[in-house]
Amino acid sequence: MDLTWLGTAGFIVKGEQGTIAFDPFLSRGEGEKSPFTVNSFANVEGVFIGHGHFDHTYDVPQIAMHSDAKIFAPGLTGLMLKLRGLPSEKLIHASHNEMLFKKFNLRAHRSSHVKFDLPLVYSTFKRCKLGDCSKLCGLGLGYPKGLVQTYSFEIKNKKILFISSAGCTEKELLQYRDLEVDYLLAPLQGHSDIQEIVARQTKIINPKVVIPHHHDDFYPPLSQSISVDIFREKLKRLDYKGEVLEIPLFQSCDI
Ligand SMILES: [Zn+2]
Repeated sequence: MDLTWLGTAGFIVKGEQGTIAFDPFLSRGEGEKSPFTVNSFANVEGVFIGHGHFDHTYDVPQIAMHSDAKIFAPGLTGLMLKLRGLPSEKLIHASHNEMLFKKFNLRAHRSSHVKFDLPLVYSTFKRCKLGDCSKLCGLGLGYPKGLVQTYSFEIKNKKILFISSAGCTEKELLQYRDLEVDYLLAPLQGHSDIQEIVARQTKIINPKVVIPHHHDDFYPPLSQSISVDIFREKLKRLDYKGEVLEIPLFQSCDI
């Protein structure tokens, strides 16, 4: 399987049975420019959306225009995408009650968004100028998170779990653990103590390999870089026995 990290929570996943993508975000504002364009999704058959925030959905209508991919999104997020120009026939409701994409044994699971804490909100506003703050408010209001989904899928008998935000409840984490995950795609963003939070979640889910994402400075000054080294330390302290695989920004990894 070939896994390409697009930055933020975005991935393109190539297996022998086809190509799918998750939460692609290419318009990185002042952030390091993405080498990917809407044309990078020409062979993608399905794009799966974790939740509605701008850094998970902003580019999706444009990507859909340049690809035959179906867009799988939960309720309100799907509605917002349609209002932003996504044609109805391209949208599939990402229900967690049924198999969404048989070729990949792909299913959606209930999930939750990380709660932004006060120190994080304070440090974000401190970095921003007045204009950035009003932009931040606009992005917050214009792109509601809606229902949050985690997705599981399989390639060559390996189970992969994609989490779009690190707010999973204990019950959700235990359900993910039961899936016996090989590769966990874990989001490191959204809290001033995010490495500790995601390390604890990883310890519960207990994947063979954890692949961090969302830790890049994807939309400065609203975003910031998160240290993967600290995440490794936290995992070590929790005696996590699996491997941490860090894919460099915009790079691919054959796993
Ligand atoms: Zn979010």
